[in-house]
Amino acid sequence: MLTEFALGDRVELRKKHACGANEWEITRTGADIRLKCLGCGRSVMLDRLDFMRAAKRIVKKADSDGDEGAK
Ligand SMILES: [Zn+2]
Repeated sequence: MLTEFALGDRVELRKKHACGANEWEITRTGADIRLKCLGCGRSVMLDRLDFMRAAKRIVKKADSDGDEGAK
């Protein structure tokens, strides 16, 4: 389970997206997490717990840290 993440991080999910990619960028944090697929550009919303369970690891940290929970 991934518990530390921030806006702009790139994450790998346990399941591949329909397009075959499994890297996503976090485009919104809060009670719900919005992710953008880096393969096809589609956005999905997951609730925070679902996201933490689905995420496997952070591929690339965002340049700025400390945005977790902002907005
Ligand atoms: Zn995709």
